[in-house]
Amino acid sequence: MYIGRFAPSPTGPMHFGSLITAVASYLDAKHQHGIWKVRIEDLDQPRTVKGSDKTILDTLHQHGFHWDDEVVYQSHRLDIYQSFLSKLNEKKITYYCECSRKEIADSAITGIDGMIYPGTCRNKILDSNHHALRVKVEDLFIEFEDKIQGGIKQNILKEFGDFILKRSDGIYAYQLAVVIDDALQNINTIIRGSDLIDSSSRQIYLQKILSLPKVTYGHVPVATLNQKKLSKENQSMPINISNVKDNLIACLKFLGQDYEVVRKENTLTNFWATAIQLWDISLVPKIKTIEI
Ligand code: GLU
Repeated sequence: MYIGRFAPSPTGPMHFGSLITAVASYLDAKHQHGIWKVRIEDLDQPRTVKGSDKTILDTLHQHGFHWDDEVVYQSHRLDIYQSFLSKLNEKKITYYCECSRKEIADSAITGIDGMIYPGTCRNKILDSNHHALRVKVEDLFIEFEDKIQGGIKQNILKEFGDFILKRSDGIYAYQLAVVIDDALQNINTIIRGSDLIDSSSRQIYLQKILSLPKVTYGHVPVATLNQKKLSKENQSMPINISNVKDNLIACLKFLGQDYEVVRKENTLTNFWATAIQLWDISLVPKIKTIEI
């Protein structure tokens, strides 16, 4: 059984970019008679905007999405993340890191997704909770077939380096939490924006060292405006709730789908039924960004 999900961060109201991800993950799951769950990724409290979880869920509801199971909040699951982290600590494949951002910027080279940590603190014995905790990665290639973007092969050590599992401010890192939650929620297919494609190999690596099941990934293009990703923070294109159908049609168009037939449906229920039936993931553009 296909089990998919949509995992927004509540950092502001929903915008066109996140609606695209919601539509793609929903249609891909429902086209295969699957389950679709919603998880609120609210670990990064400093970035969380109070009440925006509710706004996002209302926006989904108003657009006719139906999620299965109760919505999961990451902020309620800190003990779970700690218990998985403890397993890695016991294996002695984590270490504390006292490097400041500046020190890293001065000594590291830039990789495909930020700085490649040069391992400065790998052999130091630090044990303060005020330091970031990193995983000691192996010199290993991770290879996977993305449902949309095709084959990806990356070397974890050379292209990312030892990455953070818990930040120095005590916040569990996205990479760690997402892998644990997807596994515990039995998610087996993840459709999300291509801005996260380079996180996938680190997530597969964590699945491997935590003995968690593998998942299938598909990364849809990200909408950009003036070459910048639409984001809740910059308030780009918040969703206008009075045009629900137009919003959804714009998403289908963006995702390369045949939206003309769907457009003729005059109720939201029929709209979704037709869109689910006609969904064809092979039509989604195999590119990382689309300027709108
Ligand atoms: N919470 C992330 C975001 O809103 C998505 C995480 C994921 O889909 O893995 O960008």
